[in-house]
Amino acid sequence: MFEVACLGIARPAIYFVHMTNSNILFTDLNLEPALLKAIEETGYTKPTPIQEQSIPHVLLGKDILGAAQTGTGKTAAFALPILNHIIKNKVRLTPKHTRVLVISPTRELTVQIHDSFKTYGKFTQFKSAVVFGGVGQEQQVRALSQGVDVLVATPGRLLDLIQQRHIVLTGLEIFVLDEADRMLDMGFLPDVRKVVKLLPPKRQNLFFSATMPSEIRGLADSLLTDPVHVKVTPVASTVDKIQQSVMFVDKARKKDLLLDLFRTNKSLKKVIIFTRTKHGANRLAETLAKNTIPSQAIHGNKSQNARQQALENLRTGRNQVLVATDIVARGIDIDEISHVINYELPNDPESYVHRIGRTARAGHSGIAISFCDHEEKSYLRDIEKLIKIEITRNRESTFHSDSAENARLMSTGKAKAMIEGRDNSRRNFRPKFGKKTGHGGGGGNGGGNSKPRFGGDNRKPNQGAQGQQQAPARHKSGFKTSNIQKTDW
Ligand code: AMP
Repeated sequence: MFEVACLGIARPAIYFVHMTNSNILFTDLNLEPALLKAIEETGYTKPTPIQEQSIPHVLLGKDILGAAQTGTGKTAAFALPILNHIIKNKVRLTPKHTRVLVISPTRELTVQIHDSFKTYGKFTQFKSAVVFGGVGQEQQVRALSQGVDVLVATPGRLLDLIQQRHIVLTGLEIFVLDEADRMLDMGFLPDVRKVVKLLPPKRQNLFFSATMPSEIRGLADSLLTDPVHVKVTPVASTVDKIQQSVMFVDKARKKDLLLDLFRTNKSLKKVIIFTRTKHGANRLAETLAKNTIPSQAIHGNKSQNARQQALENLRTGRNQVLVATDIVARGIDIDEISHVINYELPNDPESYVHRIGRTARAGHSGIAISFCDHEEKSYLRDIEKLIKIEITRNRESTFHSDSAENARLMSTGKAKAMIEGRDNSRRNFRPKFGKKTGHGGGGGNGGGNSKPRFGGDNRKPNQGAQGQQQAPARHKSGFKTSNIQKTDW
């Protein structure tokens, strides 16, 4: 069973739960029969480590500080005991109030968490709602009008609806903050702090974050009371079941290498390809589609419906490929992704871990292939430093480039400046009267919506307080690119 040890840390008291190799079943966890029935239907046989560690403590009303990434079964780790609480403590709902609030950084993850509540609560009487930006608010307001047991929300739209008095947080019993570090990355921490200020003092808090940078640790300290600390697979470790390789290739030949992979490798069945920019994602999806590889792009400029549709098309096999920017690297839960291809390496090494974590989920294995050109070599070095393994070099392809493999290593900052300058200048050279590829306008994220008063979900990542301004890149022609958003997700 569990062994709980109290470490003498000043505040808050942190408990570390050491997992022993137990054979715990869901039936050992004191969950209500309606939930056990739903779990059985879902096909889960045993709780995952995060579930095994968290559920008993959440059921006891303890606060949780969970260091866990998606793919570990973390959603059920909080959803099941929350539903258990709802079953055992039926109350009459108050209009516009929610008993449980879950906030998560992206719309996709928010919808997914809400779906999980519905799956696990299939045989349970409860009311839930989901709110996120980028779509009209009327339906969301209607869903909240009579009050709900569970509300899953992104922070910007949540604050907007609170300010319009469509949601009231007094009487909240359980607060869940999911992917806290992602909130920080996306500049949503100020919004999260505003939400926290509105919470009633007496409540249970469940706090999940894949990593614990100091800002997140500070937020956790201010939120949690004597939390039980649960930790599974640290973010820096990539899942053993993922077969990782890197292919060195000249930048100009990446597209041909990719098409060659699809031609020669029939096991590329359900593939997510990551690019650095939205435009790159659009272009690549178009190229693949032209080469009879059914593909769609997903990124922050796509409308909510288009994003959901793209995910659904990959999920159902209608499309073979989803070309994505890092916005979906975390939290996208599609079964049996056969391959993740890093068409461009991320400059943030943790993104690599999250990207490749889209494959080999829930017991399956998976393959991650990364393309590395001359300038990306320093990104590769940073990734290998983080994951503490050397990624297997695949030099078998005719597209293999010795010069990319042996390119001189430069500092990450210099590589980033060069690569981003190149990305930006490429966009600037689009024909002046050419068709815009999905930028802003009615087709964008916030198309046709009221602007959130507190900012929030429609903002570009890194535009928040943490957003870093970079020196404007300059193309060698002297073309200044400072008017372009640097982090072009
Ligand atoms: P999450 O980390 O919550 O995004 O969950 C990752 C994946 O694991 C989802 O596809 C879940 O359906 C699946 N999952 C969650 N709990 C279990 C379990 N106990 N056994 C098998 N799969 C699970």
